[in-house]
Amino acid sequence: MPLYLPHFNLQNYNTLASPVCANFFVSVKNNEELIDAIKFAKERTLPLLVLGGGSNIVLYDDFPGLVIHLQFLGKELVREDEQHFYVKAAAGENWSEFVDYCLDQKFWGLENLSLIPGNVGAAPIQNIGAYGVELKDVFEELSALNIKTGLTITFTPEACQFGYRDSVFKNQFKDEFIITSVIFRLTKVPSLKLGYPALQKVLSVYAPEEITPELVAQIVCEVRRNKLPDPKIIPNVGSFFKNPVIPTTQLHEIQSVFSDVVYFPIDSHHVKLAAAWLIDRAGWRGVSQGAAVHSEQALVLTNPSRLNAGKVLELASAIKNSVLEMFGVELEQEPRNYP
Ligand SMILES: Cc1cc2nc3c(=O)[nH]c(=O)nc-3n(C[C@H](O)[C@H](O)[C@H](O)COP(=O)(O)OP(=O)(O)OC[C@H]3O[C@@H](n4cnc5c(N)ncnc54)[C@H](O)[C@@H]3O)c2cc1C
Repeated sequence: MPLYLPHFNLQNYNTLASPVCANFFVSVKNNEELIDAIKFAKERTLPLLVLGGGSNIVLYDDFPGLVIHLQFLGKELVREDEQHFYVKAAAGENWSEFVDYCLDQKFWGLENLSLIPGNVGAAPIQNIGAYGVELKDVFEELSALNIKTGLTITFTPEACQFGYRDSVFKNQFKDEFIITSVIFRLTKVPSLKLGYPALQKVLSVYAPEEITPELVAQIVCEVRRNKLPDPKIIPNVGSFFKNPVIPTTQLHEIQSVFSDVVYFPIDSHHVKLAAAWLIDRAGWRGVSQGAAVHSEQALVLTNPSRLNAGKVLELASAIKNSVLEMFGVELEQEPRNYP
């Protein structure tokens, strides 16, 4: 039986370092312990919070339920075909270490997703993405336990309904499944994705034959380290807002006032605005009000004094209001609030 710890301080279990408590906390290492934890919560009618690395949550108050810290470990090559390796990783594996492991084994495809914090089990929840690659590009299938029935089922890419920082687990099946493992479809021959502008810029000094998956991973790590604060030193959850998708007609209205607005085309009718540019242009970069807007990247809100994350939400709300007023664009928060 796993150990249920009452009144547990979560400050070291969320990268915003919010010092809130869980009514109960339990670490689970396998299916049996997970099912026991679900039963424990059901018997006491406690809400559940499934916790990975805590790098995409905002804990603004004590959690009045059971936090299940998923520590399922293990990774293995499950099969291969002419072009691919199919590699399975348990939900509790650290994402960044898993990427490094795949690079070592010459399983290619995760290079651009290097150094994203958090665990494998959370990666499909918001279809993590960086530098022109998303999880869905390398995803084969996942196993997830249905909290109500206790049965484990397999989800194909179609069933996951991946979108931009989105999946079925944030919508139709929100809080219904616990992801226990993920299988990735990785290539035997490198197939590098080098189109992302920040990556292109740094790689432009290399000859094509010098550009290897290892080099791409190394450069992604360098760019990330320069741009993003290390949560261990300055608590944060990475990008606080999604890049808003708007109709091209609205872009033209914004351009009539702000000709330098930064955007990325999506299709002939839509563009994705750079939320960092909107926040910066609205004057928020570097602002500090208990919580702060990171001076190198305005999309990152930080909690340098390790206060209750409610302070971060207050700042986020002020930013949202001012961006809406200035550009008529609604920012959507990326990390999930609890309770
Ligand atoms: C410095 C920094 C940089 C970042 N950069 C990026 C980036 O480039 N791209 C990107 O996409 N994200 C980025 N993020 C956000 C974050 O790292 C990812 O969203 C990551 O996948 C979250 O993993 P986690 O284990 O920490 O999830 P948690 O924060 O623990 O959980 C997030 C949500 O998923 C749920 N969940 C977690 N595990 C499971 C599971 N096994 N089954 C069911 N539900 C589960 C939780 O209940 C919660 O709702 C960044 C964060 C930081 C701090």
